[in-house]
Amino acid sequence: MAFWGQKPEDQNKPTAPNSPQLSGPTGSLEDSYNELVNSKTKSPAIDLAIKLSDIILEHAIKERASDVHIETQGTNLRVRFRIDGILQDMLNAPKNAQIPITQRIRVLAGFDPEPPTTFRNEEGRFQKLIQGRPIQVRVSSFPTVNGEKLVLRVLDKGQLGLNLEQLGLEHDTLTLIKKLIRNPYGIFFITGSTGSGKTTSLYAMLKNINTPMINIITLEDPVEYRLEGINQAQINVKTGFTWSEGLRTILRQDPDVIMVGEIRDYDTAEISLRSALTGHLLFTTIHTINAPSIIERLFEMGIPPFLIASSMLGAMSQRLVRKVCPHCAQKAEAPSESVVNEFIKNMDPAEGAIVKQMILAPGANYKVEKGCPQCKGTGYLGRTGIFELMLMNEEIRKKVLDHSPTDVIKKTAIQSAKMRTLLMDGISKAREGVTTLSEVIRVTATMV
Ligand SMILES: [Zn+2]
Repeated sequence: MAFWGQKPEDQNKPTAPNSPQLSGPTGSLEDSYNELVNSKTKSPAIDLAIKLSDIILEHAIKERASDVHIETQGTNLRVRFRIDGILQDMLNAPKNAQIPITQRIRVLAGFDPEPPTTFRNEEGRFQKLIQGRPIQVRVSSFPTVNGEKLVLRVLDKGQLGLNLEQLGLEHDTLTLIKKLIRNPYGIFFITGSTGSGKTTSLYAMLKNINTPMINIITLEDPVEYRLEGINQAQINVKTGFTWSEGLRTILRQDPDVIMVGEIRDYDTAEISLRSALTGHLLFTTIHTINAPSIIERLFEMGIPPFLIASSMLGAMSQRLVRKVCPHCAQKAEAPSESVVNEFIKNMDPAEGAIVKQMILAPGANYKVEKGCPQCKGTGYLGRTGIFELMLMNEEIRKKVLDHSPTDVIKKTAIQSAKMRTLLMDGISKAREGVTTLSEVIRVTATMV
């Protein structure tokens, strides 16, 4: 039990949409675009640009896109959406010079309507109510030789699933995490590649423990989403508000919980670990390939083993896997034993044995992707997380104090803490028919 007690039950339930769900646009973005440019009613150019930007965003929300790429390539207008991690062409049409779409987006983002003549880093954001939901959009502009390229990061609070229950954690992992984030002090690390959902997990954890009785402060670059009741600060290296300087400032703000967006240097790591020893609870991310290798990364930064051993609560690694489309997925047999033997041949023998047993155990509900109109022929629809949670225990602590390398830490975590690796967690999800074995192997390929 944490020193600030438990949250009321109802705050852990998934939140209902703010307003009734209105129906989104019908047809494709291309249909909507053609309808707009062929419209008989004479509208001023700027009205058309406003309409077009709305249409693009409405389709982006409907298709669950995370990013919208708007490229004005010579005489063409090309719009692509990133859906479930993969870019897809949505519109490729002759540019209508009468519709100043990029100027419209530039104004919304707070830029000058015309791109600068000499290169300048432009980043802006705006919020828009789409289908009754507040959508936050972050805009980045890039001057290519073919013209300006705009990338819009779309943050839909409804899609974001900021509840721990929605991340895709297995029941036992979820229970462990809820307990862990209620520790009065210590540091917890999350690692994962770009776009693996680290920020969403961090936000979900903060939201889960957030009450008026504790002071939560974050340091982020960039602040991806505004959270109610949490003090979020944006790193600004140019003005000297660096990670380490920001952290020193935060520590004078009487914090209970601190979220440090990323640890990438000795100073930030050292201050973070020390403050975790002196009554603060810290959540942070660090760039490594799996949970056990975080320790070696901290050694490389020059952090002494005793500081890691005494402050670290645990670490989690994560990736996103595509969920197999429920409309067209087909049943699949488990792979043959010889295929599995080939797959595990380079793994540590003990780990390989667990993986083999997991894949071949009877009772699995394996699926294979096919493709249908609902999933646009990809065979997949939506994504979920796979996780590797390593909790600190006496055995791992001893290995840390011995300055052990990653493979020893990993072996110890699997044996003594029953750590399920990313691959093992992914196999569980494939066995349940949530995703496919090939998707799990694709996503975790760099791990084994
Ligand atoms: Zn399908």
